[in-house]
Amino acid sequence: MFDVIKKLKFFFKENALQYTLSFIGLGLGNLCAVLIPFIVGMMIDDIVNGIMNTQRLQFYVIAFSVLIILTYLLDFSWVYGLFSGAYKLQKQMRSKMMRHLLRMRAPYFERFRTGDLMTRGTQDIRALAETAGYGMEVLMTSTVYLGVLVTMMGITVNWALTIATILPLLPMIYVFRKKGAEIDERYETAQKSFSKVNEDVLEMVDGTRVIRAYVKEEDFIEKFKKQTEDLYHKNNLVSKTGAIFGPTVKFFEGFSVVVALSYGSFLVASGTLTVGNMIAFQLYLGMTIWPIIAISELILILRQGSASMRRVEEIMNATDGLNLDGQEDITEVKDIKFNQFNFRYGSSESINLENLELDLEKGKLLGIVGKTGSGKTTLIRQLLNQYPIGTGSFDMGEYAYQQYQDPALRRMIGYVPQDHVLFSRSVRENIAFGKKEATDEEIMTSIRNASFEDDLKKMERGLDTLIGEKGMSISGGQKQRISIARALIKDPQILILDDSLSAVDAKTEQNIIKNIQKVRKNKTTIITTHRLSAVKQADEIIVMDNGKIIERGTHDELIKQKGWYYEQFLRQEIKSNEANEEGEVR
Ligand code: ADP
Repeated sequence: MFDVIKKLKFFFKENALQYTLSFIGLGLGNLCAVLIPFIVGMMIDDIVNGIMNTQRLQFYVIAFSVLIILTYLLDFSWVYGLFSGAYKLQKQMRSKMMRHLLRMRAPYFERFRTGDLMTRGTQDIRALAETAGYGMEVLMTSTVYLGVLVTMMGITVNWALTIATILPLLPMIYVFRKKGAEIDERYETAQKSFSKVNEDVLEMVDGTRVIRAYVKEEDFIEKFKKQTEDLYHKNNLVSKTGAIFGPTVKFFEGFSVVVALSYGSFLVASGTLTVGNMIAFQLYLGMTIWPIIAISELILILRQGSASMRRVEEIMNATDGLNLDGQEDITEVKDIKFNQFNFRYGSSESINLENLELDLEKGKLLGIVGKTGSGKTTLIRQLLNQYPIGTGSFDMGEYAYQQYQDPALRRMIGYVPQDHVLFSRSVRENIAFGKKEATDEEIMTSIRNASFEDDLKKMERGLDTLIGEKGMSISGGQKQRISIARALIKDPQILILDDSLSAVDAKTEQNIIKNIQKVRKNKTTIITTHRLSAVKQADEIIVMDNGKIIERGTHDELIKQKGWYYEQFLRQEIKSNEANEEGEVR
């Protein structure tokens, strides 16, 4: 349970001054509070002994006022100090987590789903940070404050009475220990269920259109209802265990009051205690309720904090398992060579790239075609360092691929994925993402090369048009072309278009390919596609099937081979002719 405090030690050390001042403030505030019953006791004894006069009363009023003002100021300073610490910790942990996530590759995100990561990054980090704020308050209250109170009770009133009053509270420790472990377990289960709810929400928001198109709203609502009911049930169990703490404290505290009153009255009657002492003692006892409740709060916070710490650590300690310790720098990509190269995904039963032989010279255009699931994307992912590198040889220039530094490799590559990612920003910012210091002129050149110029003219605010989630909705083809413009402005040594022309018409596709060939004369380009016309001009085309290259050559050579490529090309030609004819009739 206290492991979470140990693990947060680094943070307490970093903010040592803030925490020291807060603790001093808290200690002094508590001291002011415990002096009040002591003065009340003195006042009552003055009245009982008939010695109260204006001068003494003035002293008491001034003493009370000073204590009240001091308590106010001190409480404000420590509450602010501790709770701002909690926010600081949240900020720090979230940035650390973001930095970690941005470094991770595909295998990591196959292990942790987005909704789960969101829950851990928000809810869990918040619960964990509570330890650094409220947790520290209850820790101090249940130890230092309670200790000072008990000492005051013993010293200023009577030790025997103090011990007798504390005895009925001891069985509480047993209840706290037992229920504390239960809270831990139930809380972790509830957090897991919350992650699932988050995953469902993401899936539904992403898939709304498909869900509606297939009239599956009711199914999803039903599934979501079940998930939220599960979460409700699990949170309820946490509350149920948590709810036992408060009443338990009051229950045992009740017995304490009975002991204090009866034994205290006996001591007054026997002349050992004054009436003032007895009243001061009762006031002290009333003041112990909060520090004792604070013990239960402390258990709750620390248990939840350490469960959340485990969940946060799990994603922070997990890696994508990729070995990216290459040391060589790379500023120019020469030939790319695969030799007897094999690769299999960790979760795949069969081999996904088999005996790959490929020699791609610098400045050439390579086309990769083949059925869905034949291994095109898998090959691209090897070039992008997204998965562990397979066996056999994979060289780039004079070194094996793994020998290069990963960031240097990434700088060499421009990638346009199938599922284009645009940010909720302007067209300009989305394109300049590829080159930070790009001028408008450069942006316009890449827009022209990606055949997006006419579309841009139709946008009222031109380059400043906001796109993405919060902006203007644009078509799939437009998204693809903005993504291409972004990659072109980077002018990378290797440009990879992964089926990224699928949503543009045949004529636009030809224009883009022509432009790419013109501007990338000395640089390597790789295009994977379903539409064979996109790679007609390629220097080499490979046809993949089941992870293997089954045909290779230029377009003309492949046509002559009369294999899969030839048949597919004829089929696509007939289709596009039919489409053209239909267009003319209309
Ligand atoms: P293509 O891009 O040609 O459509 P892929 O390269 O995506 O094909 O897939 C090739 C094979 O690898 C398929 O059988 C697919 O199911 C499998 N595969 C793809 N991604 C993964 C993955 N992350 N884990 C396990 N198997 C995968």
